[in-house]
Amino acid sequence: MASVVDYKNLKAGDEVNAWCTKCHEMRMHKVKAVDPKGEKAPRVICMCPKQTERNFRPNPPKSHQKKRATKRVADGSNPWEEMSQEQDTSNARSYTIHDHFVTGEIIDHRRYGIGFVLEAVDATKVIVAFEDKKRVMICNQ
Ligand SMILES: [Zn+2]
Repeated sequence: MASVVDYKNLKAGDEVNAWCTKCHEMRMHKVKAVDPKGEKAPRVICMCPKQTERNFRPNPPKSHQKKRATKRVADGSNPWEEMSQEQDTSNARSYTIHDHFVTGEIIDHRRYGIGFVLEAVDATKVIVAFEDKKRVMICNQ
């Protein structure tokens, strides 16, 4: 049960969700040709405008998955994009320097937009991930 799709059942003309090495994401591909013996991966064509052809990959490559995972914990990185996909930002709290914010809170900044409180540096400073970058924000004033 390694992959969702058993490519042995695919035939030319089928549509299948596959990893696009050009788009760097999962995309619908059209099956161009299959190995009659079912030993080799079928040839598939990405349905993106580039229409690139490749061997069918049911999942993102390992290297890519690893990169995304380590990116999140690495210090210089910004987890904003992933966090905004995973979390409900509809009840983000408006940011003012007078409020107290805790790790894990979602804030709505007038200028920088939605931000995730990553860490409290001390009683008056928190590190917040905004869409463009992480910022140290003053609070509790
Ligand atoms: Zn593509």
